[in-house]
Amino acid sequence: MTALPTLREQLDAHGLAAKKSFGQHFLLDLNVTRKIVRLAGPFEGRAVIEVGPGPGGLTRALLESDAGRVVLVEKDPRFVPLLAELDDGSGRLTIVEGDALNVREDRLVEGPAHLVSNLPYNVGTALLIKWLTGPWLPHALTLMFQKEVAERIVAAPGDDAYGRLAVISQAVCEARLVMHLPAAAFTPPPKVASAVVHLIPRADRPERTLLKALERVTAAAFGQRRKMLRSSLKQLGGADLCESAGISPEDRAEVIDLDGFLRLARASIGAEAPTKPAEVGAALTRRKRS
Ligand code: SAM
Repeated sequence: MTALPTLREQLDAHGLAAKKSFGQHFLLDLNVTRKIVRLAGPFEGRAVIEVGPGPGGLTRALLESDAGRVVLVEKDPRFVPLLAELDDGSGRLTIVEGDALNVREDRLVEGPAHLVSNLPYNVGTALLIKWLTGPWLPHALTLMFQKEVAERIVAAPGDDAYGRLAVISQAVCEARLVMHLPAAAFTPPPKVASAVVHLIPRADRPERTLLKALERVTAAAFGQRRKMLRSSLKQLGGADLCESAGISPEDRAEVIDLDGFLRLARASIGAEAPTKPAEVGAALTRRKRS
């Protein structure tokens, strides 16, 4: 690694400038990328998938770590030759040119793998929902989002940011905000600050049917968050549903904790026609900023 040119030199040598359409804001300070990788690890020989490596600041730190393999998924083909310069020929690095929204992660790695990414902000929430609700769940996820999205993921009942993203994220994972980064840490700087969230899948996460029910209940409850649950959940059973879940029908969505939403979701199962699997992610991503 010491013989490598700096990230800036590599970008210049390849004539690469950031493209807005790919959400490109680069971390060129290896002290920062090493810190993110320390927060993400230890990997203990497991594989790491990095989405959107760009010029490879995080990739370099991952290659210095105890990751068994590092698999990159980059949509912008201009970066592939630059990233190939990080390959020491050991077979530890794999570069996949493609869209992470369409990639089948289970075909890239065997066994449990970590996900580490400074996410493109325009698809960050969609990717998170893909990983939380899809068939392939990582061993752990360490993801950079714009600060407001990070806050929505870790929000607690009563917080302004508390909503469906918090409930779904926290139903599947323990989620912690582990690092803040100002816009000036990126090249070019985005308009907003960023934050890193570390998510670890819970052993008691809901199975697919319950997760879908949770999505239906949170969509209805937070879709009309100022209304009492007996009104906002009318289509799902209203006051009767609340009472069978041990929730006051006069409460509003913003005060119901994860356990309360899980009770509502369980009580709702069977009360509604089944939802198609894709609707879980679609409903959540429709509300995202990005
Ligand atoms: N990891 C680099 C860093 O920290 O400097 C770059 C981060 S930049 C915010 C986001 C990266 O994701 C860019 O390299 C961009 O080309 C890539 N990207 C954007 N959309 C993508 C997608 N759908 N799938 C894979 N990569 C994507």
